[in-house]
Amino acid sequence: MSRIDTPAKLAGKTALVTGASRGIGRSIALRLAADGARVAVHYAANDAAAKETVAAIEEAGGQAFAIRAELGVPGDAETLWRAFDEHADGVDIIVNNAGIAGPGLIHEVSEADYDRVFAVNAKAPFFIVQKGLDRLRDGGRIVNISSGVTKVAFPGMTSYAASKGAVEVLTLTLAQTLGARGITVNAVSPGTIETDIHPWMADADAKAAAAAFSVFNRVGQPGDVADVVGFLASPDARWVTGQNIDASGGSGLGI
Ligand code: NAP
Repeated sequence: MSRIDTPAKLAGKTALVTGASRGIGRSIALRLAADGARVAVHYAANDAAAKETVAAIEEAGGQAFAIRAELGVPGDAETLWRAFDEHADGVDIIVNNAGIAGPGLIHEVSEADYDRVFAVNAKAPFFIVQKGLDRLRDGGRIVNISSGVTKVAFPGMTSYAASKGAVEVLTLTLAQTLGARGITVNAVSPGTIETDIHPWMADADAKAAAAAFSVFNRVGQPGDVADVVGFLASPDARWVTGQNIDASGGSGLGI
């Protein structure tokens, strides 16, 4: 047995986490920074929240910088990488986390709603990876945040679920393409996580109903997802690629 020591698993690595100003993305940024990575905290508009994420990392002794780029608009990936390039000269870990909810039964979704959800949730990750490939170092990691709504039918989330389905297929395809460079590509599918995306959770009854989906009878917390991403981003996950890891607290196991 070799000597036991605990070097930071991501020391010397640079990570980009989209949508890291709040919610799951913030928690992922904190986790990757705690593991030693220097983290690009991407966000759309909430300067104060992005600053809070960066400050929390720095106060804990980590390294981070904020980059602003609205996704879902023409040229979004170029804008993001231009901002990134001002701070770093390459990336080892890309976490496509930023996303928006797009509730609606099929007959309720307008063409504009559909286009917006797909532009942010599916098109932006596609082009962030495409335009980031020259910056992503061999042996790197891509983690795409999907959702449990691709496995169980949620008729009230048609366009959102379809956009996440696209992300999962992209994950599979990229894993094949990028394997030759030693880059792993995986998805993580959270169940219901307590973040700003769910304002309805302020209602205790609604929150309890959502908790009942999990075998643990609680809604998830951002850290429940961030720790899974931390594993996939680490050297420990070198032999895992093209997978979609469920992080839903066993939601729907009994159905
Ligand atoms: P959230 O709390 O609403 O945070 C969203 C983050 O994404 C913020 O950092 C926000 O930046 C950024 N963002 C939103 N729209 C953007 C845009 N157009 N361009 C750039 N950045 C944008 O969301 P969350 O609940 O943490 O969700 C994170 C990811 O997990 C999403 O992909 C979501 O679909 C997925 N997910 C969430 C749950 C859940 O139950 N929460 C379950 C399954 C999957 P600003 O702060 O600047 O607005």
